[in-house]
Amino acid sequence: MSTPSPNVLPLLRTDGARLWNDLMTLGAIAATPAGGSFRPTATDGDRDARNLFALWARDAGLSVIVDGVGNMFARREGTDPDLPPVLAGSHLDTQMPGGKFDGPLGVLAALEAVRTIERAGIRTRRAIEVVNWTNEEGARFAPGLLGSAAFADRLALDTALQSRDRGGVVLGEELSRIGYRGPAPVGGRPVDSYLELHIEQGPALEQAGITIGAVTHAQHFGAALVTFTGANSHAHTTAMARRCNALAGAARCVVEIESIGEALEPHGRVGAATLDVWPNNRVIVPHRAEVGFLIVHAELAGRDAALDAIAAAACRIAANLGLTAEMTRSIPRDGFEFPADMVALTEQAAADLGYPSLRLPTWTGHDALSMHYACPTALVFVPCRDGWSHSEREWCAPEHATAGADVLANMILRRANR
Ligand SMILES: [Zn+2]
Repeated sequence: MSTPSPNVLPLLRTDGARLWNDLMTLGAIAATPAGGSFRPTATDGDRDARNLFALWARDAGLSVIVDGVGNMFARREGTDPDLPPVLAGSHLDTQMPGGKFDGPLGVLAALEAVRTIERAGIRTRRAIEVVNWTNEEGARFAPGLLGSAAFADRLALDTALQSRDRGGVVLGEELSRIGYRGPAPVGGRPVDSYLELHIEQGPALEQAGITIGAVTHAQHFGAALVTFTGANSHAHTTAMARRCNALAGAARCVVEIESIGEALEPHGRVGAATLDVWPNNRVIVPHRAEVGFLIVHAELAGRDAALDAIAAAACRIAANLGLTAEMTRSIPRDGFEFPADMVALTEQAAADLGYPSLRLPTWTGHDALSMHYACPTALVFVPCRDGWSHSEREWCAPEHATAGADVLANMILRRANR
């Protein structure tokens, strides 16, 4: 083992076949018939994926630490214990169903990067920690980016642990059940930097024929719930003119949000995604209906104007149907720029390896968006087929997974030897 001078760091190449085997093996846990995975946070599938990751990490000589919200840190010590560590990873939870790559690629590529550094016989000055963040997807428990947000002090630990799924099950109790409510404190320690590799989840890289995306900034995100309130009554006997059907209002609102979204393209996107109806019983005219949606826009003013337009449309629809409407906006997640030197680190690593790179924004949330508030952060994209994600159709070509892992490994090495 040797500690190379930062000026003469070797160029690392990961074992792409090993990474691919790991991706396919992990993806077989809670696999779905159409080729995806179904591992919402703190389910048995999530537990099994965590166990396998811990097994592989220990096999690579790393020590595995679990914090109080289930975040996992697989640590390789550095030569200088006083220096904060470099963190690299992503998440192992999936949508319901999701694909094999959204999240696992970032965790397993970081693990393969550390194995590669070990095989090269290099001791780094800083420790390196491969991270699996809890509940990035927000599929079973809200909000998404939960574990990284708690680590970065963007979300109170109690709020995170008290989050309930639609069946009323509490996250903190589920983490205990699967054995992943760990003893380590959540955050509160210095971190040198955070590096995350992820599939792009959009078509830009594939269309450009470019392998590596250096993410420069995050777009402006928001979310809201529109609640229509009417009055319940018998579904057989209430004359059509006398009904106050909250669901009918919600349905018109869904259509309106869709057309507002179509008008935003290509600068922004919004479309209704959830619908809850009370009492959701065929013999009763519904008295309450809630439409939920996410919005993303390249401009802050554009996002806010679209939210205002949806609120106005909801009030107009409600007035026409004898209902009331109220729109509750969740705390917005405004866009930001990643540090220029972290973007440059991505581009340099790609160039050193001979991979072309493209600067692009992220149109969706990642743990890197939480960690940006805790330390210098880089987000690296590789293409995914036809841009599909949050889908069993999601696919990342093996050579792109390898290229991303190679770039990540060299970025980790450079940060860890600072
Ligand atoms: Zn993801």
